[in-house]
Amino acid sequence: MTTPINQHAIVLGGSMAGLLTARILADHFQQVTIIERDQLPTDNTIRKGVPQAKHLHILLAKGDEIITGLFPGLGEELDEIGANLVNLGVDVKFHVCGEWLKEQEIDLYTRTISRAELEARVRGRVKEISKINFREQTDVLGLIGNPDGSAVTGVAIRNRRDSGIRETLSADFVVDATGRRSKAPKWLTELGYQEPEETIINATVGYATRHYHVPVDALPTWRMVAVPPEPPFKSRGGGMMIQEDGSMVVTLLGTAGDLPPLDEAGFSKFAQDAQPEIAAMIGRCQPKSPIIGYRKLENQWRHYEKMAQFPERFMVIGDAFCAFNPIYGQGMTAAALEADCLGVHLSLANGNLDGVARHTMRAIPSLIEGAWTLAAGEDLRWETTTGKANTFAVRITPWLSEKIQKAMPSCPSVAIAFAEVQNLIKPPTRFFRPDTFAQILWHSWRNKGQNRATAL
Ligand SMILES: Cc1cc2nc3c(=O)[nH]c(=O)nc-3n(C[C@H](O)[C@H](O)[C@H](O)COP(=O)(O)OP(=O)(O)OC[C@H]3O[C@@H](n4cnc5c(N)ncnc54)[C@H](O)[C@@H]3O)c2cc1C
Repeated sequence: MTTPINQHAIVLGGSMAGLLTARILADHFQQVTIIERDQLPTDNTIRKGVPQAKHLHILLAKGDEIITGLFPGLGEELDEIGANLVNLGVDVKFHVCGEWLKEQEIDLYTRTISRAELEARVRGRVKEISKINFREQTDVLGLIGNPDGSAVTGVAIRNRRDSGIRETLSADFVVDATGRRSKAPKWLTELGYQEPEETIINATVGYATRHYHVPVDALPTWRMVAVPPEPPFKSRGGGMMIQEDGSMVVTLLGTAGDLPPLDEAGFSKFAQDAQPEIAAMIGRCQPKSPIIGYRKLENQWRHYEKMAQFPERFMVIGDAFCAFNPIYGQGMTAAALEADCLGVHLSLANGNLDGVARHTMRAIPSLIEGAWTLAAGEDLRWETTTGKANTFAVRITPWLSEKIQKAMPSCPSVAIAFAEVQNLIKPPTRFFRPDTFAQILWHSWRNKGQNRATAL
């Protein structure tokens, strides 16, 4: 690779989106700085800035493909620690419309790895890249603009250690990856811009999670079990995953305001309602953590891509751009797709950074369309959900999704199509392939009464 002509890029936030973005920027800049509020651990310790790491995290097949592709040797490293590839049709049990999907080998693989271990391994790889520096325990306070405000030229930061010293850092390019609670809308108004429009679709979702030791005689044949809620009838669902160290994480999830309790008896009862197999497995294992909750999991899309006026050399990525109800496990993979897309636009720009941020952010909606459609569209099947469908695909999802799910248990090819779309390998238009669409209509019609009765 030739020496990059651009000097310095700054990434705000050192979680999954920030780390992947820094890795991409390192191909195009002489120096990259990650600004992170937390002190970053050297291992998989869960830190304050990423509390969701305590909960079950699915790494989708597309996410695994991009992340291991960005760091040569990472896939083998993950294999060695027990986070080896699993087949999504064999090692993962998926429950839909009151039935378990039939086991079938499919050409989709991922890893059942804890969120904290994945981030630690990716961070370890990023730290090996000498041109990437970390500024830890440092808060981002805002953006610095050029005199006419047309471009971002740096950031204002405050070090938490050295008695809160404030300073400014200059950069040729700044990327915000500070997550769901990103202050970028406020930072933009301070530079004289509008805040982005926002779409929020909220099905009032909550998680409750507990970690377990799995005795040898209770070791299951599966690596993951997924039991999504079934709108509009069954608000309780859950998932179990055997992680890289052999421990099991169980996350119970409730929708439409039916949130899983955090006390022992309530947790067990909720697990039983979600799916008796989850309760039975819990009964065979020993808890190794308290029950931990997470609320406020709405779908939130800040429409930076629509802003007519936007400063050059600044962009937003990851959950800060669009965060999903995580039931379908799409956030890390969406961040990986977006970082990859930034790399493509930087390569096309050939050193001229003007327009790169704008073009990348305008390309992001097509990358996240599948994830958004599944998460937001499915949430709109609950009567109590607040917010309005913002795309045609989301508008038709409640109608189509019911048919797809009714067809999945009896039609393996529809189940494969669903897995491809959910894993962000194929776009939602995959369901309209004539052979697949015909199967969806036929099987959903044939199974209509039967599945409805089971779900009830
Ligand atoms: C309960 C739950 C379950 C989830 N399950 C899944 C799943 O199964 N699969 C999946 O792919 N995704 C899942 N997600 C989403 C996933 O966690 C995120 O998409 C992923 O972490 C990428 O997010 P991010 O890097 O954009 O932001 P975050 O992970 O939120 O990280 C933001 C970073 O910015 C730092 N920061 C914030 N503000 C500042 C500041 N002012 N100055 C400096 N630093 C700052 C924070 O400390 C943090 O390190 C889940 C999310 C939740 C909440």
